[in-house]
Amino acid sequence: MNRIQNVTTRRRPSLPASPHLPPEWKLRRRGGLVVLESLPLARIPWLVHGFSTRLGGESLLDGRRMLNLGYVEWDDRARVAENRQKFARALGAGSMQWTGLRQFHSSMVRIPRREASASAPCRGDAMATRAHGLLLAVQTADCVPILLADVRRHVVAAIHAGWRGTAARIAQKTVGDLRMRFGTRPGDVIAAIGPCIRSCCYEVGPDVAHEFGSQFAPAAEWFDGPFTPLSTGDEPTPFLWLQFDPPGHDRPKRVNLDLAAANRWQLETAGVPAARIFSSGLCTSCHADWLFSYRREGQRTGRLVGAIGIL
Ligand SMILES: [Zn+2]
Repeated sequence: MNRIQNVTTRRRPSLPASPHLPPEWKLRRRGGLVVLESLPLARIPWLVHGFSTRLGGESLLDGRRMLNLGYVEWDDRARVAENRQKFARALGAGSMQWTGLRQFHSSMVRIPRREASASAPCRGDAMATRAHGLLLAVQTADCVPILLADVRRHVVAAIHAGWRGTAARIAQKTVGDLRMRFGTRPGDVIAAIGPCIRSCCYEVGPDVAHEFGSQFAPAAEWFDGPFTPLSTGDEPTPFLWLQFDPPGHDRPKRVNLDLAAANRWQLETAGVPAARIFSSGLCTSCHADWLFSYRREGQRTGRLVGAIGIL
């Protein structure tokens, strides 16, 4: 009896408690993995997409199996390659060419060529294409993965936005590049913002807060923390909107940043309708049983992938 139970358990491992998801999102079991889908993208017949979770996969860390999709130091390259194949198959993209980037927290948007991307990934933090058969894959472990689809021109894009990329306006720039290179009308774009570290867990220092405060008018809305906006009369004071050391407090104050909100604002500013931007709401650090979080786990964590491609 025990033996039968064990076999059953091994075949269909029990999942951690499901995180709460907005109605436009769904976790699906596919090919032994669990993939997070944005339903508005899933309804588009000419593309495939998905955000990975850590469940399933061939990687082993501290005796636990997981789906690590990045070539990190602790993992075996062959296992990562196998995981990538497994993930691509789970998306229905088994025959597509995996197209990644050497990400470096920039605002660089690339248009990958089929031949070039097969050998060595180029440097950049966003990709866009209207070519069939390329699976654009961005890696994250707290940073914001964003997938875009222009439903009229049939163009797709994948974006990796950490705080540096967000400060460099990579989401805004990617929509701009879609307009310039492919004639995309931002009103035709559907955007899915995948799991990332949310403001509940993303504490940043005054340097990051000032970087955002100095260049984004609504930045104060993206921060939680013990600060008060400053004003010096009639003029707004973008460089002084945070007061980190209110009188009577000696310790330097830290605040929490909502990177997803900053990227949503950039997409809207670039012309993508608010009603067409869908955010999973999932925090990588709060859901470490489902996702990877560099903040929470440090070097010994894996990489998630957000991927999109045209069939
Ligand atoms: Zn959190």
